[in-house]
Amino acid sequence: MANLLESYAEVVGQDVIDQLHQLAGTLRDKRVVHVNSTRFGGGVAEILEKHVPLMRELGIETHWEVITGDALFYQCTKNFHNGLQGKMVTMPNDWLRNFEETNAFNAEQLRPILSDADIVFIHDPQPSPLLRYIPERKGKWIWRCHIDIHRPNRMIWRYLRGFVAGYDASVFSLASFAQPLPHPQYLIPPSIDPLSDKNVDLSNDKIDTVCALFGLDRSRPIIVQISRFDQFKDPLGVIEAYRIAKHFLPDIQLVLAGGSAADDPEGDAVLAEARQAAEGDPDVHILLLPPDAHRTINALQRAADLVVQKSLREGFGLTVTEALWKGKPVIGGDTGGIRLQVIDHHTGFLVNTPEGAALRIRYLLHDRRKIEKMGRKAHQFVRENFLITRHLREYLTLMVSLLY
Ligand code: UDP
Repeated sequence: MANLLESYAEVVGQDVIDQLHQLAGTLRDKRVVHVNSTRFGGGVAEILEKHVPLMRELGIETHWEVITGDALFYQCTKNFHNGLQGKMVTMPNDWLRNFEETNAFNAEQLRPILSDADIVFIHDPQPSPLLRYIPERKGKWIWRCHIDIHRPNRMIWRYLRGFVAGYDASVFSLASFAQPLPHPQYLIPPSIDPLSDKNVDLSNDKIDTVCALFGLDRSRPIIVQISRFDQFKDPLGVIEAYRIAKHFLPDIQLVLAGGSAADDPEGDAVLAEARQAAEGDPDVHILLLPPDAHRTINALQRAADLVVQKSLREGFGLTVTEALWKGKPVIGGDTGGIRLQVIDHHTGFLVNTPEGAALRIRYLLHDRRKIEKMGRKAHQFVRENFLITRHLREYLTLMVSLLY
């Protein structure tokens, strides 16, 4: 769509858009390829879906490729994900063999586009071995890690580091995620698109309609956590926090809404556990949403009095950014990227336990003015730090610095 970028001027100012065009001028004849392992579900897909058209509009030939694999491949890469986020995991040799063979196969498919690209962004561990199978590459390769790897399982990191070390640069979301690597490491936190279906303003009617659809009563407090059903998002901890808070606030309702990502094989089991934990409570709404339910999620976040993101590990947490942008204080797990966004007592509260979360829920729901004040700060904080235009500028700067 032409002039998509210009529409952001209303949110961030014309200067910001002019600067993007200026930076992109030097990259105009370049070809950039992003590679990840799913087109739907999760933060990486969410970001690429917005970045790619905007980069194209800036005149940079940008592609997005997705690798494919069998169930064993995703089981293995889910274990990498869990291991990098500090869990003990098993990793049989035949899984690793399958992981490497799958990447070798994908490298064959993608060879023409990858070997010729000026810049290749490889997102997360799943496609990290591709570089090894494209020795004739022409451009610079960047490993973009979205995961919280501040304390990785050593065995898993040692194995993956063997692939990652060959890259020209890595990008992490937080300084504490950086690792000893023989190449430059950059810090670029992710961002949200304020004009996407997920984040645009919605009419009250639309919010009412979505609430009615799911049986939510807007005259009573609503607490929302949006997340893939993943153990690191701690849905059981959220239900526990809600239960404790409900002793003091019998009216509250809890919404746990999420879908699954195509590259996440553990979602069903975590969903089943959450359903079991919530059984019998009509005020706990566990919603399984399709991957394109952006307006529904938008409406649920806007309907919320408070948003919770009680993750135990979190690379960044776009759901936190989305909620803050909508003027909602976030009660977030004191971990990873949530710490970049939830400024304790200002944009929300950082918590370590279900009891801590319950305490903050109770405190805020008893003080509506505080919710509004924190919500205003939250929105402003995202405007200044976590919008897509800042993210594009940092990617452009990174590409310029690697190529010239
Ligand atoms: N999301 C979604 N549908 C869902 C669950 C999540 O569209 O059912 C979106 C959510 O709004 C956010 C992204 O997926 O934009 C999740 O990113 P985040 O960084 O919070 O977590 P990740 O899933 O990448 O660990």
